[in-house]
Amino acid sequence: MKGNYEEAINYPAINRMIKEAIATEKTINEAVEIKINVHQKYFDAAVVPVLSKTRKKLEGIVIVLHDITQLKTLEQMRKDFVANVSHELKTPITSIKGFSETLLDGAKNDPDSLDMFLNIILKEANRIQVLVSELLELSKIERTSHLQLSPVNMADKVANCIEVVQQLALKKHIDIKLNMEPDVYILAEPSKLKQVIINLLSNAINYSFENNSIEVTVRQSEGASILEIKDYGIGISEEEQVRIFERFYRVDKARSRDSGGTGLGLAIVKHIVEVFNGEIEVESQPGEGSTFRVKFKSL
Ligand code: ADP
Repeated sequence: MKGNYEEAINYPAINRMIKEAIATEKTINEAVEIKINVHQKYFDAAVVPVLSKTRKKLEGIVIVLHDITQLKTLEQMRKDFVANVSHELKTPITSIKGFSETLLDGAKNDPDSLDMFLNIILKEANRIQVLVSELLELSKIERTSHLQLSPVNMADKVANCIEVVQQLALKKHIDIKLNMEPDVYILAEPSKLKQVIINLLSNAINYSFENNSIEVTVRQSEGASILEIKDYGIGISEEEQVRIFERFYRVDKARSRDSGGTGLGLAIVKHIVEVFNGEIEVESQPGEGSTFRVKFKSL
């Protein structure tokens, strides 16, 4: 079937390259953005004129398209990540700088201001420390495809972790109720599993109201060991539920910051759970609460 190439190729960017290749009789290389159906795709495109042996006559055109969409997406993720990290660091650094300058400008002579500003500086420095250590943790886990796994009793591990978050819960008068089968074991790296449980428990406490309760369930079901952490707190809307495991994603930035959150906790949790060959899911209703469920293969 013969016809005008412009009828067959409905992409202006490629047609422009073809025109240029015909006019110049030279190979044209460009990165082009093309919408295919609803998908935005990126290609490394080469339009190569095929000339007859005598180099006098153009016999045809070869178009080579190399799909670089995935590469582009990764590049964008990297850029977003750098932008997010810089943004997260900027706020505490600005605050430390501002308060130190104010102290040096004379506020240091007033004991009340001195104490208050130093405390703010310490709090902001702690924020940076938590952020940097969580970033390092995330990058360490991302580079790890294999951990030394050993059988861990879930109920024991949960009891261990509750000791760590007990103070936080007491401050908000939150009662942690346990419903745990004693003989549920999974293959895990104990300190990383601890991190998962503490993260989920801390979130449940942080995003609960005062005097709420939290329920922790450990059970066995159809070959899976299941850990459920249920709270009756602020909840998460359906659109947000798919995003909360992304690095730095926070539904309410101010609230998360106030409670010392970095938006990295659930990203770390998800990575660790995946290294343990497990899955994590969330069920939630805004205003009613959330249940985070982690499923591992039973031993
Ligand atoms: P953060 O350090 O902000 O807590 P996370 O990665 O642990 O970061 O969680 C990401 C976001 O998911 C939180 O900022 C919060 O908006 C939401 N979230 C996590 N756990 C809960 C929960 N139990 N109830 C309501 N919202 C939650």
